[in-house]
Amino acid sequence: MSRIEPPARVKPAAETAGAPAPLYASRQKVYPKAVSGRVRRAKWAILALCLGLYYLLPWIRWDRGPDAPNQAVLVDMQHARLFFFWIEIWPQEVYYLTGLLVLGAIGLFAATSLFGRVWCGFACPQTVWTDLFLWVERRIQGDRNARMRLDQQPWSGEWLRRKAATHAAWLLIAAATGGAWIMYFNDAPTVARELLTLQASGTVWFFFGLFTFTTYLLAGWAREQVCTYMCPWPRFQAAMLDENSLVVSYRAWRGEPRGKAKAAGVGDCVDCRACVHVCPTGIDIRDGQQLECIGCGLCIDACDDIMRRLGREKGLVAFETLANIAASEAATAGRAPGPERLARGMAARRAPRFLRPRTIVYAGVLALVSAVMLGSFLLRETVGLAVQRDRAPLFVELSDGGIRNAYTLKLSNRTRGTPAFAVALDGPAGLRLVVQDAETDAGGRPVLTTRPDGITQWRALVTAPPGLGLSDSTPIAFRLLDARGRAVESARSVFLGPKP
Ligand code: SF4
Ligand code: SF4
Repeated sequence: MSRIEPPARVKPAAETAGAPAPLYASRQKVYPKAVSGRVRRAKWAILALCLGLYYLLPWIRWDRGPDAPNQAVLVDMQHARLFFFWIEIWPQEVYYLTGLLVLGAIGLFAATSLFGRVWCGFACPQTVWTDLFLWVERRIQGDRNARMRLDQQPWSGEWLRRKAATHAAWLLIAAATGGAWIMYFNDAPTVARELLTLQASGTVWFFFGLFTFTTYLLAGWAREQVCTYMCPWPRFQAAMLDENSLVVSYRAWRGEPRGKAKAAGVGDCVDCRACVHVCPTGIDIRDGQQLECIGCGLCIDACDDIMRRLGREKGLVAFETLANIAASEAATAGRAPGPERLARGMAARRAPRFLRPRTIVYAGVLALVSAVMLGSFLLRETVGLAVQRDRAPLFVELSDGGIRNAYTLKLSNRTRGTPAFAVALDGPAGLRLVVQDAETDAGGRPVLTTRPDGITQWRALVTAPPGLGLSDSTPIAFRLLDARGRAVESARSVFLGPKP
């Protein structure tokens, strides 16, 4: 079977003459070949899960009662709320999102430390959408060799038909992706109808266009260049790896020296380049650990298939620790290729050490942050009280010689109910509290009603009768009492007056 290779890069004369390599080299297009195997199946499953979640989540409905959005996952920018099923986050609770980001970052560090670039290779959106776009490209243009032939042939009706169909399908997926993103910020059925009937607002069209374009560009055109040149993660993920991390590796101690399958004195690598042809970044895993390797493991499937066809043991390319590679190399040094070398090399391996100082630290931080977040969420107050004292004037001297201070009470209710609370004033005996427009309970305390999922403001006046003998600044506090008289929230302030 004839094999088509991408055109080799022609070295400029200056480079061949020993001068420094130029700072710019044009991209060699990568034509990843389709592959099947257990890693590919795992990747398909993760891809289906990620895309299914992304496209369908905005369509799930969640009944929150009247006057509340019924979308399960919604970032409601207009009312400054974030809804996630039964959870509703207010702007002042944004620390929960910070906590989630911290958890995500530490989780990523831990996963990288254990399994290398498993995130990049399996679940990163760039990988997932590129995989989907590649699948579409293969369905329309054929596998690696057919695509390379198509790109090398002059324009023709067939060329135009296949290219146009590919880009149309990509744009359709990109539009679905951009549209789904908008739905996380708007009611999904409404915004879908508005988009389809061309009645959406300018903002919706702008973001729809932006995310459609970026998806088309990054997954259709840029592909592996995003991972190699744009993403910062490959630059510092090496700091999380050590010799016990499981990374995609070529077992050179077993594969070398390379040679034809039937040649004598050669290792298991038959130099078929199947591992290179399936690689989405176009690299050769046999060259060792490389920044371009996203750890997708497709070269494992490709090589396993070759080994199976040759009747040899799988695992020439495998998820392996660098410690085991070194141990196998030491155990097989100077040995001729063959079953005995393979057995010695494999016997020298040790089970991966998952419990290591760095993974223990990551697990500890993960557990700590999770516990803090869970605790604060379970103890989360549904009612809040904020007090703002009038600053102009600081106090008012009444005609009878009394002193009065004015305050604004802001009562936030994070529930869908309308609970009412009595207000008690903590301070020197004799201070009188009046809340304008509020009714009073049997004990004469003002009762503040709330509105669902909102903030109610009340104006409170605190008066010190003449002769109370207060200093110029007296600490006081406002306490909210529920129907059973229990304090549910309080806020401190001061009562100001003239210097004695
Ligand atoms: S070398 Fe293997 S694991 Fe790395 S990107 Fe290429 S196919 Fe994926
Ligand atoms: S697929 Fe396996 S046998 Fe073929 S070149 Fe790659 S490592 Fe060697």
